[in-house]
Amino acid sequence: MSAGLDSRWAISWLRAAAEVVADHRIDLSELDRAIGDGDHGENLDRGFSAIVEKLAVETPQTPGAVFKLAAMALMSKVGGAAGPLYGTAFLRAATASGDAAELDPALLAAALTAARDGVVARGKAAAGDKTMVDAWSPAAAAAAAAVAAGDGVVEVLEAAAAAAEAGAVATDPLTARKGRASYLGERSAGHRDPGAASSALILRAAADAANQPAAGRPGGDAA
Ligand code: ADP
Ligand code: MG
Repeated sequence: MSAGLDSRWAISWLRAAAEVVADHRIDLSELDRAIGDGDHGENLDRGFSAIVEKLAVETPQTPGAVFKLAAMALMSKVGGAAGPLYGTAFLRAATASGDAAELDPALLAAALTAARDGVVARGKAAAGDKTMVDAWSPAAAAAAAAVAAGDGVVEVLEAAAAAAEAGAVATDPLTARKGRASYLGERSAGHRDPGAASSALILRAAADAANQPAAGRPGGDAA
């Protein structure tokens, strides 16, 4: 049985992420309206739509190449704070994935950690600053813990998605210390960080895509 996730999974993930971002475009911008400038949903929808357009004309053959395509589209189309942050996340994930045809659990967790490290390097936010780091950091940690426990790729992504969701919810009471929301100081408390919310949606899409038999799931070829 294959133990890894291939480029078909990565493509399914990004297509599913584009759908979920489009579905939550209004909600994400509402979150951003409360503590930012109200454009987060629009920003991300533009970027993920650009990814889907690119995937209609090219078919990258490795997960790393898929992530690189995503990084380029996000950096050129999203703008604002989130574009370079998500772009860096996907670019670092691409580098960590290298030329591997499949991501095994350890490489998958390494890619998630690299993505988190990229967000931190780019935005200089720490855990608890009420940013997308509060979703990515617990996600990367949960993925590493799942690998250490001997879990497979689906469990690694499930753990990452669940941790990102909990991390996003946990931003509600925090006071923002980075990004536009930090201009509000304590008035930012009582609202969910939009970037943490979108990160949780995107990581959930990764887990969902890994659960689809036709999408490069381990064991999809083992019947
Ligand atoms: P902008 O703030 O430029 O309008 P978006 O609205 O698209 O950009 O994205 C806002 C999100 O970006 C925030 O909710 C937060 O999660 C994230 N963010 C902003 N600044 C930082 C930072 N320095 N580090 C990490 N994440 C950040
Ligand atoms: Mg904004």
